Amino acid sequence: MKAVSIILLSLFLSSFAVGNNSKEFVQKKKEEVFICTGKGAKCYHNNRKCWGLNKCGENADIVKKTLDEAKKEYRACKICYKVKK
Ligand SMILES: [Zn+2]
Repeated sequence: MKAVSIILLSLFLSSFAVGNNSKEFVQKKKEEVFICTGKGAKCYHNNRKCWGLNKCGENADIVKKTLDEAKKEYRACKICYKVKK
């Protein structure tokens, strides 16, 4: 059993190393989120179809932003960012 766990551990560690090395060619992918430009909107959404965006009125638009940008002004939507079980 001990040998198995050592193998698993080394696999785990090597996958970590590969992950670090691949950083160079996997361009930093900027996460995009959706926000409503309406006055009442305070949240950003990771899903365009989130029903939280349904409340976005006719006078407002749903726009894409990068997550970093959105975080400055908005909070994560509790509907589409709820903790996964
Ligand atoms: Zn949402």
